Amino acid sequence: MAIREIKKYPESVLRGKTEPVEEFNEELQKLIEDMIETMYAAPGIGLAANQVGVARQVTVIDVSLGSDKEALIVLVNPEIVHCEGEESSEEGCLSIPGYTTMVKRFTKVKVQAQDRNGNPVEIDGEGLLARALQHELDHLNGKLFVDRIGRIKREFFKKRYSREKVGSSK
Ligand SMILES: [Zn+2]
Repeated sequence: MAIREIKKYPESVLRGKTEPVEEFNEELQKLIEDMIETMYAAPGIGLAANQVGVARQVTVIDVSLGSDKEALIVLVNPEIVHCEGEESSEEGCLSIPGYTTMVKRFTKVKVQAQDRNGNPVEIDGEGLLARALQHELDHLNGKLFVDRIGRIKREFFKKRYSREKVGSSK
């Protein structure tokens, strides 16, 4: 396993489309292992493959930050099939270090995906898990949480980021 470099806003790989995984081979297993290690090392509660520069539909999530062995979720080719409710909560992103803000999300989501071996899985998420699922699936569609905030807040964010040195983790 290896820790991979996390791509930072505004790198273009974060904005591109990701391709579905078709072969559940050794290369995929290596990518998943590296993503898990990179997420825990960061530390973060989720990581999408394009955040480590691989434009594939793969994400890893652990809202327990590694404290609960059962909490690790690996999703390949995930898709939200049901959502309900609405709530605002503070959100941040490993690709946008040093910036958090309130983001409105669905309270509950149901996601259909494949596991790391290609078997179908279904995940019901609520609260923080629902938020993490939506955040990571957004990544796989080239979307960032700053796209989901109001225009004025977004302008403010862009100004601040263009002033700061990109990649600074402060
Ligand atoms: Zn993120």
